Amino acid sequence: MNSPLATLNKILTCSFVDGPGNRLVLFFQGCNLACSACHNPYTIGICDHCGDCVPACDPGALTLQSNKVIFNPALCDQCDACLTICPISASPMTTQFSVDDILALIRIHKPFLGGITVSGGEATMQADFVKDLFTAIKSAPDLSDLTCFIDSNGMLDIAGWQNLLPVTDGVMLDIKAFAMDLQKELTGHDTSAAQNIARVLLKAGKLYEIRYLLIPGKTDNTAELDQLVAFIQSLGLDTKVRLNAFQHHGVRGLALDQDIMPKEGVDAVVELLADAGIHNVTTPAIYQ
Ligand code: SF4
Ligand code: SF4
Repeated sequence: MNSPLATLNKILTCSFVDGPGNRLVLFFQGCNLACSACHNPYTIGICDHCGDCVPACDPGALTLQSNKVIFNPALCDQCDACLTICPISASPMTTQFSVDDILALIRIHKPFLGGITVSGGEATMQADFVKDLFTAIKSAPDLSDLTCFIDSNGMLDIAGWQNLLPVTDGVMLDIKAFAMDLQKELTGHDTSAAQNIARVLLKAGKLYEIRYLLIPGKTDNTAELDQLVAFIQSLGLDTKVRLNAFQHHGVRGLALDQDIMPKEGVDAVVELLADAGIHNVTTPAIYQ
């Protein structure tokens, strides 16, 4: 198959939190937002081969060859020193995969899988690959029963979604915040387009879940939650909502000074949604 390669940060061959059932998850490198609360911050940037991380790699897993950083996984001791030093939140440990590479991996794990999910980073930044992969899965007789899901921040434009949706079964969509100043504070960008994308996905029957990260003092204030309620009500009371709770795992910088979201706070939002008629709500496993 003559299709683009994907730049992936990581592959999980077994996940129960990235869509329905057990899923193989591809984490794409690169994101078009810069969320301060990101728990995979090293997936945001795309390596420009500056070489800054090479001297930090004591085991010699990184070398600079012809102005390109080369990663040797056999020597890596997973100390993450390279991730800490990278000035653009990139990773030198990415790998490029073809559609055929991924299909071969899926076939190994197929007996245990309900489907595959593309995540990140932001998988839709590599939409051509996602489309080719999903198309290949759906046209392979031994794989066509697998569902194909996207975990997204909703920043892909409508034309991009219209291109992906015919081969996509469901989308988990982040809504970051409602007030514009808060959107920009949390992500560095205006993310309000995601609300419109939610309606596009709903109309196409492909909106699997809205995801909302509760951050104390930020996304859990009355004004934000009132808008969350109104937004979900506008989509339909049976809309699936997944509440996530800010934790320190994986985050860095100023986010480490941010309070984590306590269970009582999550429970209060569940109650608020229930009072508004919204009952299809899931909460973080650590608080269940
Ligand atoms: S991962 Fe970061 S520090 Fe390392 S070469 Fe790439 S851009 Fe430079
Ligand atoms: S995580 Fe691996 S590649 Fe990165 S600095 Fe440590 S040993 Fe080197």
